[in-house]
Parts: sequence; structure tokens; C-alpha cells
Amino acid sequence: MRTAKALISDGQGHYQVETVQVGDPQAGEVLVKIEASGICHTDWDSIQNWNKKFIVGHEGAGIVAAVGEGVTKVAVGDKVILNWAVPCGECFQCREGNLHICEKNSPVCGCGLDGHAHIETSKCDDEPIERSFHLGTMCEYSVVKQAAVVKVEQDIPFTSACIVGCGVMTGWGSVVNATDITAGSNVCVIGCGGVGLNAIQGAAMSGAGKIIAIDISQERIEQAKEFGATHGVIADRDDIDFIKVREDVKKLTDGRGADYAFECTAIPALGSAPLALIRSAGTAVQVSGIEQRIDFDCELFEWDKKYINPLYGMCNPDRDFPRLMELYDSGKLKLDELVTKKYQLEDMEQAFDDMLNGRIAKGVVVFS
Ligand SMILES: [Zn+2]
Ligand SMILES: [Zn+2]
Repeated sequence: MRTAKALISDGQGHYQVETVQVGDPQAGEVLVKIEASGICHTDWDSIQNWNKKFIVGHEGAGIVAAVGEGVTKVAVGDKVILNWAVPCGECFQCREGNLHICEKNSPVCGCGLDGHAHIETSKCDDEPIERSFHLGTMCEYSVVKQAAVVKVEQDIPFTSACIVGCGVMTGWGSVVNATDITAGSNVCVIGCGGVGLNAIQGAAMSGAGKIIAIDISQERIEQAKEFGATHGVIADRDDIDFIKVREDVKKLTDGRGADYAFECTAIPALGSAPLALIRSAGTAVQVSGIEQRIDFDCELFEWDKKYINPLYGMCNPDRDFPRLMELYDSGKLKLDELVTKKYQLEDMEQAFDDMLNGRIAKGVVVFS
């Protein structure tokens, strides 16, 4: 048993730093000393809505501090990235290759806690406490299933590695894994925050022709160009139906519309926006996980358009994390540049405020 500092929430809008006890890993489990944790919009949502007590955080990187019986994937001292969609490897979806929507473990499917390491291992006030997405990375230590860790061989700061496990994977994977962009495809990316910048990186690596970054901020469009965008279109806050944006995109795409458009804003009213920007038989991709009910003009689907909603960039962690690390190592994937600000756990109020007001691409909590 060891004590650790953690960000605890009641899932009713409150959070504070508390001391928790973290036990040893059991069979098939790994104790990770967390070195850095990404800060994500999903953390904010979970703090507001989960209505239960939990350790916050689902984007982490750290060092293996102990392993339970039968763990073969990693050893003590290994540097690891954590993965929040923990596959069981045996269910229907895992056998289909859809590890990210595992029927048994995925917290997203609401199928219980099979992906969680034994619950008693983290305790707050002597009561077992759940960890966000089976991880709870805003804590100095976390015990997770071995399927939740991927070893990192490359020389990379923890602050850059930790963001791979959510925002990078989601943006990059929604392009590379979920679509079949070919050389010369024209692509729109709506929203140039952390996820959008990684969709842009994925599109650039896939050989896209025009990569049109769309945002309300000129500054963010300029940053998007550093990540591979070839063109920028400023959206007006009031142009919720994208009337003007659509015209601008058409001008850039021979009057036809883009081949692909990726929505990365998490703004429910923009759920249909990618459909407005693509050509007939193009593909609209909703990356940000909008879940609200919204109105759709079915004319937007004319004609032969596809609308897909991949989860977590269709992440296969043992395949994708090493690929992302190699791309980083060879200078093709920018990660260091994404981390705009580092915080201590005690500074979370400021961190959430910066994130919610779009002042940063990505914030990261560091523990030492
Ligand atoms: Zn996240
Ligand atoms: Zn499964």
C-alpha cells in the first residue's frame, strides 16, 4: 500500500485534490507510477455528469512500478502509455478486430467494470474508489489491467506521450483508421483544437491534397498550418449552418465540395456541418462524440454521402501506439508542439478554465 495524491470528483460538478491509498497489482494487473496526465474535455464532462465518486483522468503515461502474476507485456521500469478502451480480446467485437468497442470491457458501452483492475486497489477514506475509464490518471499511481498499457521504446517526454492515449489517437485514427483517404483527397477539418490538429496531421500523412482548416480563430488556423493544413477558412460564430463556410470550401474544391470532412468541435449544433462541406458520395466524419439530439436537414445527405462516427479513432493500442511513437521519432508527428501548458494537480481550476476558453491546444498535469 502506498499513498498518492489524486484529483477526486463527486461527478456532480465538484473536484478536489485528496490523498488516496493505492495497493499492489493482482494477477494480470500493472501498477503504473503516473508521470503526466493529459487534460481532456471528457474529464470536465465526467466531473459534471457521472454522479459518482471517482479518480479523474484517462490520458496517462508513466513508469511500471510493479506487475502482478502472469503479466508478460511489460516489466518493472518500462515506460508506458495508457489506453482507456481496454480490450478483453475474446468478445464478438474484439474478434472482429474492433478492440475499441469491446463488448465486455468498454466503459463506453456501459457494460460494467470488467476492464477495471480490482476495485479495492484504490481507496479514498478507506472506501474503494473507481478510476475514470479504468485508469484515473490524475493520481500519482494507478493499478490497471495489462491490456491498458503499451510499452514505449522511444525517447519522448512523458508530457508528450500521455496525450497519445486520447486526443492524438482520436484525431489521427479518425482519419487514418476510419477512412480511406488517398493521395490528393481534399479534406476539411472543422475545429482546430487538440483533436482537430491531429486529424490534420493524419490527413497530411495520408497524402491529402488540400487540407482546409476551419475555425473561428485566425490564430488557431495559423497553428493548423504548422500541423499540415494547406488552407484556412474562418467561420463566423453566427453561421451555424455553415452557409458561408460551404461557399468558401466549394471555391477551393472546384465547386464540388471536399471528399472528406471531419467535425472536431464537440459543438452539438455543428453535428451536421461536415455533411454540408462534402461533395456527393463524400464522407462526413463526426470525431468529437456529439451525443445530443439535433435537427438534420436530410438534403444534406444528397447524394450518396456517408456519415460515420468512429470511437477513439478505432484504436488498436498495440498496433497504433507504436506506429505513433515511430512517426514521432522520425519527426513526422508533432506531439511536443501540442502541449501548450503544464499544470500541477493543485492548478486544475486554472487548467479547466484555460481549456474551456480555448486558450490552449492541450494542457497536461505533471506530478514531479
Ligand atoms: Zn480524452
Ligand atoms: Zn472484448
